Amino acid sequence: MESEFGMKSITGLLIDLDGVLVKGKAMNPFPDAAEFMTFLRRRGIAFRIVTNNSMKPLSWIAGHLQENNILVFEEEIVSPMAICPRILKDQKREKVFVMGSEDLKQHLASLGFSIKTDAAVDAVLVAQDRTLHFEEIKTAITAIKKYGAELFAMNDNRIILDDDGMPFAGAGAICRLLIYATDYRDHFVHFGKMGEIYNQTLFEQFHQDKGTLALISDDLYTDIKGYQAEGLMGIFLTTGKYGKEDVAGDMKPDVILDSLTEVVAFLKCSNAAQEASG
Ligand SMILES: [Mg+2]
Repeated sequence: MESEFGMKSITGLLIDLDGVLVKGKAMNPFPDAAEFMTFLRRRGIAFRIVTNNSMKPLSWIAGHLQENNILVFEEEIVSPMAICPRILKDQKREKVFVMGSEDLKQHLASLGFSIKTDAAVDAVLVAQDRTLHFEEIKTAITAIKKYGAELFAMNDNRIILDDDGMPFAGAGAICRLLIYATDYRDHFVHFGKMGEIYNQTLFEQFHQDKGTLALISDDLYTDIKGYQAEGLMGIFLTTGKYGKEDVAGDMKPDVILDSLTEVVAFLKCSNAAQEASG
């Protein structure tokens, strides 16, 4: 468990949502999630909930967590659901074809976007979609190829773990299908973690020295590897979509833990060691 962060005090945390605080389609909280958040607040450890969630508005997520005694406020969550409408508005993309949940479509419609079902649009927006259909893929490809629609994604996720334990394609994977089919340029804008817009939004409102920040996540690729490259400590939790057997090659989390209870013990230990040495 020793790492270059071994003796550093952790002053702030970025906490992933799915697979860390909650799991599955119903976003059921882990049994130790409420206690974990209470611990952070009591210790005064600064945090942000960093999520790639592309299904539910922030107000719903905060309300759902609070109902489960997990005290998190809307302004403590950084989510593509808040970033996406801002950027689409800035870029004047009004007619949007959405590959995603009904909640996402309704959310965008409530903000004034015209949510279309045909290919004559300004933008194709790819999100987590559990009902993805052949016709939707066809419409998206036509929108990009024939109508010059811009491709956007809510996040760059490879996979999402379904409730039956089987992984399915995330928005990042679906985008690559569309890119290959349409010979789209290799760069697409996404509103999720490690994306330029997401990170800018996150670090602008969460002023912390990256060297004393840690990220807790079940996602080895975008989250752990991505934010380690930004200078953060990567705490990999095995409670989500990847297991210890997936830690291979250049995947090198600083710490691997099996529950939030273990994270609490680790934080107590590492900050006590820092106090003793300081
Ligand atoms: Mg996750």
